Amino acid sequence: MPADILSRLCLPVPLVCDGAIGTYLQARGLPAGTPPELWNIEQPDEVRALHRAYLEAGSQILTTNTFSGNRLRMPDTLGGHPRAELVRRGVELAREVAGDTLWVAASMGPTGRLLEPYGDLSCDLAEEAYAEQAQIMAEAGADVILIETMSDVLEARAALLGAQRATRLPVFVTFAFDETGRTMMGAPAAEACREMQAVGAAAIGANCGAGPAAVIVALTQMARATSLPLIGQPNAGVPRLEAGETVWDSTPDEFAEHARRLIEIGARVIGACCGSTPAHILAIRTAIEAAQA
Ligand SMILES: [Zn+2]
Repeated sequence: MPADILSRLCLPVPLVCDGAIGTYLQARGLPAGTPPELWNIEQPDEVRALHRAYLEAGSQILTTNTFSGNRLRMPDTLGGHPRAELVRRGVELAREVAGDTLWVAASMGPTGRLLEPYGDLSCDLAEEAYAEQAQIMAEAGADVILIETMSDVLEARAALLGAQRATRLPVFVTFAFDETGRTMMGAPAAEACREMQAVGAAAIGANCGAGPAAVIVALTQMARATSLPLIGQPNAGVPRLEAGETVWDSTPDEFAEHARRLIEIGARVIGACCGSTPAHILAIRTAIEAAQA
């Protein structure tokens, strides 16, 4: 096991996380619309190669290919494989590549359903589903539970409580924000931050959403609201369609600039999200090293 990540987060030098998984695997041939987790069993070499590419680019934390592994989101079997097995293998593949020097962050994304009173999902049911996924991932060797791309503070709270109930691992929570620093459900970044701190998140931040500028706005607001370590993982701009292809505009050079801004704000974990590649992570790593020089 690598050193305790919470002590490492106390140091001022930010940790480098990794970048996109879904869009990266799609570029490697995963058909659009197919859950990426399927490849944890059907194409494990591709998933290992993805983790290795991020490791070589300088990632110190590897994120597992388990984002959609919640039982409210994924059916009990997928392509003939039990869901729990797809999730477990996702963590094991990242652990294999991370060895005992890098950290493994086990990803849990939203259920895709609306919680009461806006939808019909109860907080208890959501919490239970997250607890189940977190337990599988902890037993498979994760170092941290990473709840990410959340747009509802209530659902993030249920996920955090579920993870805490099922494991003793530290839990990081990141939300997707719009350009004004609000979640899709309208919660301001500072409020999301305070709620997660109150329930015991170990770190809090922003990922995906409306591109790097939105992450910078949200983290600036969070920095005023909390003393918890901050995480910034923007996507490579907002995707657009060009001749039927999805295009992500933010280049690695631009990511170096975003990383410099995130370092100034005080981010302790910097990575990237959809549309990014190992080249974006290398740019982040280089910016962090330059800032220490
Ligand atoms: Zn994303």
